[in-house]
Amino acid sequence: MSYSKPKFKTTYGNFINGKFVDPIGGEYFENTSPIDKSLIAKYPRSQKEDVELALEAANNAKEAWGNTSVTERAALLNKVADIIEANLEEFALVETCDNGKPIRETLNADVPLAVDHWRYFAACIRAEEGSATELDANTLSMNIKEPLGVVGQIIPWNFPLLMLSWKLPPALATGNCVVLKPAEQTPSSATLLMEKIADVFPPGVINIIHGFGPEAGKPLASSSRVDKVAFTGETTTGQLIMQYASKNLNPVTMELGGKSPNIFFSSVMDADDAFLDKAIEGAVLFAFNQGEVCTCPSRILVEEAIYDKFMERVIERTKAIVQNNPYDASCMVGAQASNDQYEKIQSYIKIGEEEGAKVLCGGEANKEGDLANGYFIKPTILEGHNKMRVFQEEIFGPVVCVTKFKDEAEALEIANDTLYGLGAGVWTRDAHQLYQIPRAIKAGRVWVNCYHSYPAHAPFGGYKKSGFGRENHQMMMDHYRQTKNMLISYDKNKL
Ligand code: NAD
Repeated sequence: MSYSKPKFKTTYGNFINGKFVDPIGGEYFENTSPIDKSLIAKYPRSQKEDVELALEAANNAKEAWGNTSVTERAALLNKVADIIEANLEEFALVETCDNGKPIRETLNADVPLAVDHWRYFAACIRAEEGSATELDANTLSMNIKEPLGVVGQIIPWNFPLLMLSWKLPPALATGNCVVLKPAEQTPSSATLLMEKIADVFPPGVINIIHGFGPEAGKPLASSSRVDKVAFTGETTTGQLIMQYASKNLNPVTMELGGKSPNIFFSSVMDADDAFLDKAIEGAVLFAFNQGEVCTCPSRILVEEAIYDKFMERVIERTKAIVQNNPYDASCMVGAQASNDQYEKIQSYIKIGEEEGAKVLCGGEANKEGDLANGYFIKPTILEGHNKMRVFQEEIFGPVVCVTKFKDEAEALEIANDTLYGLGAGVWTRDAHQLYQIPRAIKAGRVWVNCYHSYPAHAPFGGYKKSGFGRENHQMMMDHYRQTKNMLISYDKNKL
C-alpha cells in the first residue's frame, strides 16, 4: 500500500489566544519535506513580540483555567485524544511528510502513542487523591497541589506530535496554560492539531509559536512571564535554556541527548530461536526512526564468546532493512529530518573511518530510485572501541557502533563510560544478570530483553548529561505544580 504527500495551505500562522495570527513582523520561513526537498508551506518566523503576545494570552487565561474542575479538564483532554484518533491517517501523513519517517511508523506508533498520552493524563488527574495528616488532636496538615501558572515548552523535531503530546497533556491536566514552540524543522503536525482543536480549550490555554531557537525559543525561556520551562532537545541547547530560566529562578525540566548501550550476553546465543530472533531485532533497532531517537541504542556491546556469530546475524538482518519511499507501507527506514542531519551523519561516518573504525555495512547515503532527492542514509554498522568519538558523541542517525567485552565488569565499564545516561538495553537469559546489570547502569530507562517501548505510565528521563526530571507517568504532574501546605488549628484556646 502506498500513500502520497498530503495537501497543505501555502502559509500558516501562530496559534495565539484561540486563533491563528500572522507574525507581527510579517516574516515567514519555508518548510520543506526531507523526502524530496519539496516545499510544504511557510510558517511564521516569530520574534520576541510574538512570544510576548502568546504570553499575554496565556497569562490572561491562567486564573480561570487553573480553577476549572479536574472533571472538566479531563473531558477536554479526552476530546483531543478522540479528535487525533478520528484523523489518525491525516496526522500520520503530515508527520511523515514533515519529518521523513516511514508511514508505517507514524500510523502505528507516533500517532496512536500521542493519543494514548492525552488519555493517560486525563485519567491520572481524575484518579488523584490528596493528603491530609492529623499532627495532633487539634491540628491538621493538608497538602494542596496548585498549578504553576504559565509554562513555556520547547520541543525537537524527531517525534513532533508525540513530543508535543508528552508535554501538553500533563501541563494542561494540572491546570497550567502553555506557550509551546515546535522545532522549526517540523511545524506541521502541531499546526494541524491546532486547526482541529481550535475551539476545544478556552482562548489562551494553548498557544503555539513557530520559529527558530535564538529568535523565538530564547525569549520564551528567558521571560519572567513563564513560571516554568520544559525542554527537550540537545544537551548544549539545554545548558543555554537553563541559563535563560535561571534569571527568573524558574524551574526547568531537561530531556536531552543520549548514547545508549545495548548489551548482549552470551546466554542470548544459547536461547531458543524465538528469543534469539527477538534479540537480533533488538540490536537492529538502532535504525528505528532513522536513529533520530534520544534513546537510540547507538552502542552495541557483545560478549566476546558470541561476538562473531551474533554480529553475523545482526549484519544480515541490517542488510535486509527496507529503505524506500517513506509513503510506502513497506518502508522501514525513511529520510533524515534535515540536510543538517544528513550532512552531520555522513561526516561522523567519515570521522569513524579516520579513527580506524571498520564499516561492517552501509556507510553511505542511499540515492537509489526515488530516494535520490531526499536525505537518506543506509543503516550503518561501525566496529571499533569505546574511546572513539563515534562511540562517545551523539550521531543521531542510523549508525551503530559495535564493540566486544570479556565479562560483566567490562560490559558495565564500557556501558557507563559516556557523558550520557538516558537509555540502555540488556539482553540475557541469566536471572542474576537481568537484575544486577540494569541496577548498575547509570541511565534513567533500562530495557531488559526489549527496547524502544514508551508506555505513558512508565517514567522516562535522564541521568548525567541526558537531563533531569521525568516525562510520562503520573509523577510527571508534580513537575507542573507546587504544593501548598495548609496547617490548620482546631484548638479553641491554645495558639
Ligand atoms: P535542539 O536542541 O537543536 O532543538 C530543540 C528545540 O530547541 C527546537 O525547538 C529549537 O528551535 C530550540 N532551540 C534551539 N536553540 C535554542 C535557544 N538558543 N534557545 C531556545 N530554544 C532553542 O535539538 P534538536 O536537534 O531539535 O533535537 C535533537 C536532540 O533532542 C537530540 O540531542 C536528542 O537526543 C534530543 N532528544 C531528547 C529526548 C529526551 O526525551 N531526552 C527526546 C527527543 C530528542
